[in-house]
Amino acid sequence: MIDLNKARENMVRDQLMPRGINDPRVLAAMRKVPRHRFMEEALWGEAYGDYPVPIGERQTISQPYIVALMTQALELKGQKKVLEIGTGSGYQAAILAELSRKVYSIERIRSLFLRARKIFDELKYFNIVLKVYDGTLGWPEESPFDAIIVTAASPDIPAPLLEQLAPKGRMVIPVGDRYSQTLKKITRTDEGFEEEDLGGVRFVSLIGEHGWKD
Ligand code: SAM
Repeated sequence: MIDLNKARENMVRDQLMPRGINDPRVLAAMRKVPRHRFMEEALWGEAYGDYPVPIGERQTISQPYIVALMTQALELKGQKKVLEIGTGSGYQAAILAELSRKVYSIERIRSLFLRARKIFDELKYFNIVLKVYDGTLGWPEESPFDAIIVTAASPDIPAPLLEQLAPKGRMVIPVGDRYSQTLKKITRTDEGFEEEDLGGVRFVSLIGEHGWKD
């Protein structure tokens, strides 16, 4: 029987720290959140590996390093309000919930939404609100957001998400084709938007009005 707490500690030490994840709050959240609980029990042995893991419905929970990299890029200091597009297993939202005041997360597949809601209740994450919807439209009633994270690959940056980003807010989103993308960090400035590339990634597709059509 593998020691999952020890495996999580090793994940932080061997996969995150050597690759430049150095924000102590992000490292603490990655040490704390029980990633295995967001997967089927049969896959718990894979929970702390250096790769994505299937979560059903042809979707995945992202590689731990990518979760940490995207979270660090959002620079969540203080009481921030965060929007996530693509709840999936709920793991990324739980990491964000450790570092912000409130997390709004949207998922288009109902069965994933229901499973995430159950695990948030079990783990007592009461600062995450969820809805089943097309996340490419954002969550206008709750905007603006200090940070927006898109955890599915988009052909372009959806315009509604740019509009819903607060002044000085940051967005992290994989942009590219269906097979490979560049992780982009967008910062809203007084003059407009600044863009920075964080490297190559491979995500499942963002499907919706401002994403891929199917
Ligand atoms: N953040 C997730 C986690 O921690 O497990 C991983 C997300 S998975 C890589 C991408 C998710 O985005 C899938 O669950 C998929 O159904 C969802 N998705 C794709 N298009 C979407 C859209 N337009 N709105 C909301 N969710 C979407």
